[in-house]
Amino acid sequence: MKYKYVFGPVLSGRLGRSLGLDLTSAPICTMDCLYCEVGRTAVLTTERKAYVPAKAILDELAHWQEHVGLPLDAVTLGGSGEPLLNTEFGEVIRGARRIMPSVPVAVLTNASLLVEPEVRRELGQADIVLPSLDSLVDEEFAAVNRPAPGVTPQAVAEALLAFRSEFAGRIFLEVLLVAGVNDSEENLRRLKAFVPQLRPDRVDVVTMTRPGAYTEARAVPRESLERWRRELCADITEAVGQSSSALSANLLTKQEIQEIVQNSVRRRPQTVAQLAQATGLSAESVREALDILSRTGGVRTIAAPAGESGSEQASAQDGPYYSAGRR
Ligand code: SF4
Repeated sequence: MKYKYVFGPVLSGRLGRSLGLDLTSAPICTMDCLYCEVGRTAVLTTERKAYVPAKAILDELAHWQEHVGLPLDAVTLGGSGEPLLNTEFGEVIRGARRIMPSVPVAVLTNASLLVEPEVRRELGQADIVLPSLDSLVDEEFAAVNRPAPGVTPQAVAEALLAFRSEFAGRIFLEVLLVAGVNDSEENLRRLKAFVPQLRPDRVDVVTMTRPGAYTEARAVPRESLERWRRELCADITEAVGQSSSALSANLLTKQEIQEIVQNSVRRRPQTVAQLAQATGLSAESVREALDILSRTGGVRTIAAPAGESGSEQASAQDGPYYSAGRR
């Protein structure tokens, strides 16, 4: 089966081996971030609707569980846009829990829609929420996140605080720094005041590690990244997830391996080494699948981002990034 809404697994620094659910199925988002690793936003909107019916996503997830069924550290709502735009995301959380009762449900969000109490209530069903907040300075927020009209950093920050007061699960806050855009002292000062109010369970300060939507998005220098991490008390030592069972290539056909590999790079460009880690396949099986997919146009290689990196960047000997996402 070709999966349309289920993708991965991918190896996430914060969640371990994570299976993704795409709730918009297209680049539909309340923001058009410079650094977005799935490309530019095609529909910039705050209008919520059932962009993909929950049933379609959950039918695929049940099929994946039955036919692939890899051990996972998380099932994560995210994908090619802002998942909370989908009015049926609460049903997806409940359904994922029914299908995979022992796997935590995580939600990646830019937090812009948390201004709506109904969204906060539905999101409260998740186990882990991973909001991003890149700047509390108006001009920087506008430049790095390129939001839909009406989305402001103050509103997002207030909505996050309201959510914290209502939510018993874990919050992993992410701040992504783009050189010369949101790495100012003023932003650091404001975020330093905000983080203790939010009381997140962890803070991750990261920078560009993969190609972004816009070429001007550049990584900050490592020293700067390390300083921000120290200042914002980022817990950067938390272990990556514990799933250790490898996916045995012997049990899969070449076609199935190609599908797993292509599926994994559809939303996230990765190197051979990253793909092997994410899928549990050997590097050799991954390379073989990529060779075939490259020849048939199923994947393409893309350039790594310029500048220094965060903790997840591949080293030079890992070779190029592969992508099957939109250009
Ligand atoms: S990074 Fe997230 S919030 Fe930003 S444009 Fe991409 S999907 Fe939307």
